[in-house]
Amino acid sequence: MAKFNENYLELKESYLFSEVAKRVSVFQKNNPDRSVIRLGIGDVTLPLSKEVVNAMHTAADEMGNADTFRGYGPEQGYDFLRYAIQGHYKSFGVELDTDEIFVSDGAKSDTGNITDLFDKDNVVMIPDPVYPVYVDTNTMNGRKIVFIDGNAENNFLPMPDKSVHADIIYICSPNNPTGACYSREQLKEWVAYALENDAVILFDSAYECFVSDSSLPHSIYEIEGAKKCAIEFCSLSKTAGFTGTRCGYTIVPKGIKSVSTSGKEMSLNKMWNRRQTTKFNGVPYVVQRAAAAVFSEAGMKEAKAMIAHYMENARIIAGTMEELGIRYTGGINSPYIWFECPFGMDSWEFFDFMLEKAGVVGTPGAGFGKNGNNWFRLTAFNNKENTVEAMKRFKKLFD
Ligand code: PLP
Repeated sequence: MAKFNENYLELKESYLFSEVAKRVSVFQKNNPDRSVIRLGIGDVTLPLSKEVVNAMHTAADEMGNADTFRGYGPEQGYDFLRYAIQGHYKSFGVELDTDEIFVSDGAKSDTGNITDLFDKDNVVMIPDPVYPVYVDTNTMNGRKIVFIDGNAENNFLPMPDKSVHADIIYICSPNNPTGACYSREQLKEWVAYALENDAVILFDSAYECFVSDSSLPHSIYEIEGAKKCAIEFCSLSKTAGFTGTRCGYTIVPKGIKSVSTSGKEMSLNKMWNRRQTTKFNGVPYVVQRAAAAVFSEAGMKEAKAMIAHYMENARIIAGTMEELGIRYTGGINSPYIWFECPFGMDSWEFFDFMLEKAGVVGTPGAGFGKNGNNWFRLTAFNNKENTVEAMKRFKKLFD
């Protein structure tokens, strides 16, 4: 009989969203007349913008015409999109070669797939709380994980501990679930730590489009030295509502090297290219045309309008936390608001309490790591009317 990968036995049951759905469904069954507002979703709610849809229509027509039909495309992505992404990075002052840009079907796959390039014996450093994919994909490979604590004391922005060595470091900024965003100075420390340790930073910038404070970095490559030690993952999921359309991009600079146990050096850019051309056949042409439309002047204007809509909701939620004097992070450069559960409750207790008393659904922090046990995530991915009503009900919890 084929033997399975025993590392899968080490995975924790991923029951967060199914448990949330189960509790909401029980509540609705028992309270058919109560309205429920969902501020727990990490998925966008606005439809694709006009420019994007027009580009998809045009590309679909091309695919239906013998003269313009396209079959397999380049695994790394079409040049028209790689140039568009290169232009986007230029807007943050970052220069990239197009062969450092790999178009993908999203940041989830690539943050997981990148683990293919690294030996099992590397020490992986992962912040807690964080997007669970980093922990699970490394667990599947049997790698040793050291957690670094995000907490109220460090505003959920843990900094490197020089006494601990790591080979691979995950950083998510702006962060899911905490909404916290590293400053340039803080990222400089991380880059210095990575260079000192010959480590690679895996930087997830899936929420960079929500950064509105011009002093905060959108990309780790805004930091000197990062091209020698960092791989960056980004996605159009939140930038332009592509969660169901699927397109992202991964930057693997040509300057990053890794070594074998015997000391042989390899370029991670070449390895990733080899990995992608072997295991991936590219993103659909129609989707890549839609993605390129996001980076056009008109497309970016529409994307920014969508982000502004969500950020108005975030402002309303963060404003409520301010008013009630609840400790929170996020909401300014991120669609997530992460707050300390009131009344000394843990995050599942508060989930039930808020659902029962206010009919509002959020996400218990416990689902993102042990440091989330007494914290809670609300998201801006709803409409303004619902967000205002949800916060009205939230305030009543404190009457
Ligand atoms: N990275 C982070 C931090 C996320 O929160 C998410 C989605 O919620 C992703 C990556 C996944 O993005 P994609 O839809 O591009 O796979």
